[in-house]
Amino acid sequence: MCRAAMMKSVRVVVVGAGVIGFSTAVCIVEALPFCSVTLMADKFSPDTTSDGAAGILFAAQFPDIPLQRQKHWFKDSFDHLLAIAQSQCAPEAGVMLSSGWQIFKEVPAVKKPFWSEFVIGFRLMTDVERKRFPDHKFGQAFTTLKCECSTYLPWLEKRFRKAGGQVEQRKVNNLQELSNNFDIIVNCSGLGSKVLVGDTQVYPVRGQVLKVEAPWVQHFIRDGDGTTYIYPGIRSVTIGGTRQEGDWRLQVDDRDTKGILERCSRLEPSLNKAKILNEWVGLRPSRKNPRVEREVVELQGRLVPVVHNYGHGGWGVTLAWGTALDTLGLVKQSLHEMAPQPKL
Ligand code: FAD
Repeated sequence: MCRAAMMKSVRVVVVGAGVIGFSTAVCIVEALPFCSVTLMADKFSPDTTSDGAAGILFAAQFPDIPLQRQKHWFKDSFDHLLAIAQSQCAPEAGVMLSSGWQIFKEVPAVKKPFWSEFVIGFRLMTDVERKRFPDHKFGQAFTTLKCECSTYLPWLEKRFRKAGGQVEQRKVNNLQELSNNFDIIVNCSGLGSKVLVGDTQVYPVRGQVLKVEAPWVQHFIRDGDGTTYIYPGIRSVTIGGTRQEGDWRLQVDDRDTKGILERCSRLEPSLNKAKILNEWVGLRPSRKNPRVEREVVELQGRLVPVVHNYGHGGWGVTLAWGTALDTLGLVKQSLHEMAPQPKL
């Protein structure tokens, strides 16, 4: 069988319809037109964790992943979304540029984070700029991007289908279920990986946010400790938040709402007048390091390549495109190993 004919018959399944699954599925279907690609998930937009994320692009550093790789993830995602933000697709895709400040109560050990070279115009705030935040001693000013997944995911789905991808709503109970119908499995199931692949390292970090009507708020403000933030978006301002490790509660907690309003109004007093449009809770699919790697697993007597891409915690929107490109590379590697070797 020639290589092109063999490639045509390769069936790839991507599990997960959040920002990681759809980014990965689009990268694969557009780069490998000779593969059939199916995206399978039990929940789709607007019901995924990704849908409620503020979607602002910056990141923390993971401890055990080479910094160069993390820089790639960030830069690839930033460049991809910047191109969208600066195109006519921006409103349809829900991507916009966003300028503002990250402020710190104590001067941080690292004044310039690793991603400072990729965002636009990164600089330290002047004393005059910091005057409006009297509790904070240090600040950074920059322009980044905001990607609103409740708009971006349907846009990605359309792009995926247009490239020939197929979509199936279904809960996958175990990988064995997929091994008869697919040659390569790509796991982008986020927190679902705890059960689907038995990963005991994945855990939830609960986040509660409010959407408020405050069109006069034009700049983002984020406390460097990650618990309090104000992110103006296309139709509303997202204010938050909470970071409750190991907390699986999906219902809104009134005490959290009160705390969010108090903390955010301290940073931006005009928010006292803002109307609350919506309250939302999501569980960040957290892990010490995201898992972007390949393994070969024996399923029903067959050796099947399984490529994982999950565990992005609070930075999944930021890193989605970059880790999707890495995942595509791992899928290509699997195809290469499956291809018939030339006869000597
Ligand atoms: P999900 O969106 O949870 O998608 C998982 C998918 O897998 C779903 O479709 C689910 O149905 C499917 N699935 C799981 N198990 C199975 C199974 N067994 N069978 C079939 N399907 C399955 N990130 C940023 O970068 N910037 C931010 O500003 C930001 N703000 C956030 C604010 C809050 C309050 C929260 C909670 C998160 C925030 N995040 C942010 C983090 C971001 O939301 C996540 O990192 C990201 O959504 C993870 O995407 P995902 O695709 O891995 O997971």
